[in-house]
Amino acid sequence: MSWLLKAREFVAYHGIENIDLKNCVMECGCEACLGKSPNQISRSIENIAEHNLVQFKNFVGRREKSVINTFDAVLEEGTMAVVGDLHIGTPQSLWELCFSRLKQIKISHLVLLGYTFDFENGKPSLWEVTGFFRKLREIGVEVIPVLGCSDSSREGLLDALRELSLSEEPLKPQLLKPSPVRAEAVRSLLVFYTVAKEKAKVKLADGSVAIFRHGHDLGFGKKDHPEEIAGILHERKRPEDIYVIGHCHKSFLDPEKRVQY
Ligand SMILES: [Zn+2]
Ligand SMILES: [Zn+2]
Repeated sequence: MSWLLKAREFVAYHGIENIDLKNCVMECGCEACLGKSPNQISRSIENIAEHNLVQFKNFVGRREKSVINTFDAVLEEGTMAVVGDLHIGTPQSLWELCFSRLKQIKISHLVLLGYTFDFENGKPSLWEVTGFFRKLREIGVEVIPVLGCSDSSREGLLDALRELSLSEEPLKPQLLKPSPVRAEAVRSLLVFYTVAKEKAKVKLADGSVAIFRHGHDLGFGKKDHPEEIAGILHERKRPEDIYVIGHCHKSFLDPEKRVQY
């Protein structure tokens, strides 16, 4: 029965390997998955169990391994917005304005392309963290967080979580009577950065694949010329893929090379 037990943990079989579907989406053409959408398969225990059973039978019968692709998200319909470098926690951050705009354009998916919170030069307050996640839930979209330069260090996150957990008051009463607002802020921030990855691979509605990275580790500076950066990014990817980075604080799009930042 392990095919069912594994499905209950959102684990899918792929030959003798396992795919953890808790933080990704699987596209599979096996007889159990045929005709179902990747989101349908990956978010239902029943569908994963059926897939696992087919994979198990195929494995025992020494049949050929199914072709399975995994993505961080699969956009079947709707509109995706990509937002980088919100720098929440600094006075210059325009995150509230950004949410007003996102509300107007009615999106279904939101990629947060790194540097969402600023743990290095800023100090996200309890108000900013609760406000950000409240607004995120309000617009009710699928969120795809990517790690950036100031929000990828574990120490920075830990410091921010500690700041959010504790108020100025004496510590021992806080231990006995924790604040639900602070607990919620800590939990949301922790989940957000547990979901966040260095690179997100998203299958778009037209079948093309978009790679999202913050870009701080690619060796570019803010002073580098946009055309040059586009040229280098173009060489690093498959020609048909779309490469999107943040970090540069400049807007640039090359539809021919399928590079954007
Ligand atoms: Zn399958
Ligand atoms: Zn950056």
